Amino acid sequence: MKRIQATLTALVALVAPTAAAAQQFDLLIQGGMVLDGSGSPAFSADVGIVGDQIVSIGKLDGATATRVIDAAGKFVVPGFIDMHSHADRSFASDNIEGRRAHNLVMQGITTSVFGPDGRNPVWPIPAEMDAYRAPGVATNVVPMVGHATVRGIVMGDDYERPATADEIAQMAELVRGGMEAGAWGLGAGPEYRPGRFSTTEELIALAKEVAPYDGFYYSHQRSQSPLPLWQIPSIVDGQPLTGTEGMRETIEIGRAVGIRVVGTHIKAKGTDTWGHSQTDVLMIEAARREGVDVYLDQYPYETFGGGPVDVLPDWGYAPPGTDRSGGLDAPIWRDPEVMSDPKGNLRANLADPVAAAELERDTEYILRLQGGADRHIVVSAPDFPETVGRYLAEIAAEAGRSPFEQLVHFALESTELGPAGVRFRPVAGHQFDVENYMRQEYTATSTDGSVSLQTRPGQHPRSYGAFARKISHYVKERGVITLPFAIRSSTGLAAQIVGLKERGYLREGYKADMVVFDYDDISSPATIMEPDLYPTGIEYVLVNGQFTVDNGEPTGALPGEVLDRREKDARARGVS
Ligand SMILES: [Zn+2]
Repeated sequence: MKRIQATLTALVALVAPTAAAAQQFDLLIQGGMVLDGSGSPAFSADVGIVGDQIVSIGKLDGATATRVIDAAGKFVVPGFIDMHSHADRSFASDNIEGRRAHNLVMQGITTSVFGPDGRNPVWPIPAEMDAYRAPGVATNVVPMVGHATVRGIVMGDDYERPATADEIAQMAELVRGGMEAGAWGLGAGPEYRPGRFSTTEELIALAKEVAPYDGFYYSHQRSQSPLPLWQIPSIVDGQPLTGTEGMRETIEIGRAVGIRVVGTHIKAKGTDTWGHSQTDVLMIEAARREGVDVYLDQYPYETFGGGPVDVLPDWGYAPPGTDRSGGLDAPIWRDPEVMSDPKGNLRANLADPVAAAELERDTEYILRLQGGADRHIVVSAPDFPETVGRYLAEIAAEAGRSPFEQLVHFALESTELGPAGVRFRPVAGHQFDVENYMRQEYTATSTDGSVSLQTRPGQHPRSYGAFARKISHYVKERGVITLPFAIRSSTGLAAQIVGLKERGYLREGYKADMVVFDYDDISSPATIMEPDLYPTGIEYVLVNGQFTVDNGEPTGALPGEVLDRREKDARARGVS
């Protein structure tokens, strides 16, 4: 007996250290299939979390935890990183519901990259970071210096020209200040004002400022479709744009500066441009072989753009003879005086044979730019309810009109114009290009979406569904990419592009930003006509170890951190 006792004691002593080191967690996610964000195949493992950190991944038998989640049959993956997010305004606002961002957390987003299209909602960077910090936000935030922001500060209203050397120096100072304050790089939007009037040299000079900080450059590129001179006078070498300059310029910046560069929310937009993904891919592959560190990100839809649109160009609603040289989006079209009698002006323009022919030409161009009349879906039409949900080409054909004639009919017969008139959502992209970009190993995922508190039919479904759709539609239904590839594009690849050091992968010591989902159940039901439907199958989302989605429901928690690049640098130096 005594002998047996002694043996037992010895055995306990042998076993005890392991059991003791094992294992008390705050949260234990048991028995899931782990995809670690690297693109490697899934493996079965438990994940133990303490505080905001993943401390253990493996067979954690016998471990205990304050909370245990049974993930058998589910995938456990890193949290999704949105490479192009317009949530910044809501995250900086007083509205707490905006900061909770239910439509973003419900699709698994745990980190949002800001500075989209070169704009900051608050300036300077320390003020922007403070605006997110109190009272908090649902996802982590990557602050960026916006090129449009600094150009606007330095050049004011006098921006429709290249900047002088002195102005570029002033902008460079602001970029440097933003990086010193913790930003991760430079965001730009040279298709828009005021960035459109910049030269490539200006962008290179400013991108150079982020290089000493290991920053990256990402751009809503100069052109994603061919643009005629009447629409947007180009100042790139005085030549009109043909649709590939944007990618070429981003590559040139990467080559000149030697930093990571991204053609963000990449697309081939409009019938004249369908197939251009192949040109982009060839250019990118050549550049990458040369050593240029170029990437893309993409939201997985064939429909682009923001809210519903009219199709007739604005100048059709302005008095005959109004100067059109500023282009389609010139401030003049927002002047209430100029646009005070839109129907009368449209009639007058149509009565002039020259203006009428130009109006038809421009309208047809816009239709092509947006995918053609057979890809313009009516999303609201108070005076023509029977047309809602149908395509322009079909409606026009039934009425015996050309698409242009149908648009004029809609405009002249509607009680109101503008947002209360007939509005369309164009489907300007082609499946070939969406899938071709998606297949590339350097293409990350984005929403280009925002926090959506009031959704109307016709709004883009990406704000609710982008990350889930990549899995449900492109992995499950169409088999365009594999699941590990899709997860990597939404996690590890994005972390690599941004330069995040402890996010984007499921690894011990990394932050507990995670998603648990059921592959069989995952779906992304949001559509153009019903854009505010949450994905299904995404069961748990953790940001810094806290649930933003629990058992399929948003929690309203605000555990997001404002990521400060300087902390990464400090850790890299071992200063932590
Ligand atoms: Zn954009």
